[in-house]
Amino acid sequence: MAVTIKTEQEIELMRIAGHKLEIVHNEMRDFIRPGVSTAQVNEVGEKAIRKLGGMPNFLNYNGFPAAICVSVNEEVVHGIPSRNRILHEGDIVSLDAGLIWKGYHSDAARTWGVGEISPEAKKLIEVTRQSFYEGIKFALAGHHLHEISRTIGAYAESFGYGVVEDLVGHGIGTHLHEEPQIPNFRVKGRGLLMEPGMTFAIEPMINMGTKHVDWSSDGWTVTTSDKKMSAHYENTILITEGEPELLTCTKEDY
Ligand code: MG
Repeated sequence: MAVTIKTEQEIELMRIAGHKLEIVHNEMRDFIRPGVSTAQVNEVGEKAIRKLGGMPNFLNYNGFPAAICVSVNEEVVHGIPSRNRILHEGDIVSLDAGLIWKGYHSDAARTWGVGEISPEAKKLIEVTRQSFYEGIKFALAGHHLHEISRTIGAYAESFGYGVVEDLVGHGIGTHLHEEPQIPNFRVKGRGLLMEPGMTFAIEPMINMGTKHVDWSSDGWTVTTSDKKMSAHYENTILITEGEPELLTCTKEDY
């Protein structure tokens, strides 16, 4: 599938999908506290998606059994919500969520601390978030995609962190995952020449230790190979004539 350029009408639908997802993330953020289960977080997220008139795009995607991926501590992504997984003070929890509005997808992830967390965990979350913002300085028409990739990776690695290579960002639109793939690390070649109207989900996954990950026997959960913490930060963005537009993040409170 080729990289798609969205029309003004399509972009407007993606803006709405993105704004709704931001509201969903805010509701989950406000719910996170010690003692709640990851299944409860999923319920809050799914309820918010449906209340806003959206459809959860992760639910049943390749058989994923929930609306929200809830990944705790050493879990990088694709954590399956469970009644038996209780959040404790000091944990960090990565929430990856998405929804469909009138046929258009949005996709965003945040990592939050549960209660008080260690300074090391705080720093990991902040550097992961900032690596996204460093990367999108190059999310500009006339630039090449791999400038984003290289910048994200170099920034995170400058803190001694491991940058996950097994999972990458992606184009997004009428499908959750469209071309191109968007690595968070230096790769060969310059990559796609970006044009206004392209929409991407850019999503650094950054580990406190090794970049290597393991895939769980549940078929989904990805964990760090050294069991150290991992953080995730993602927004759906639009390439414009000027600065990129963040479709899933209109406020500065992230
Ligand atoms: Mg994504």
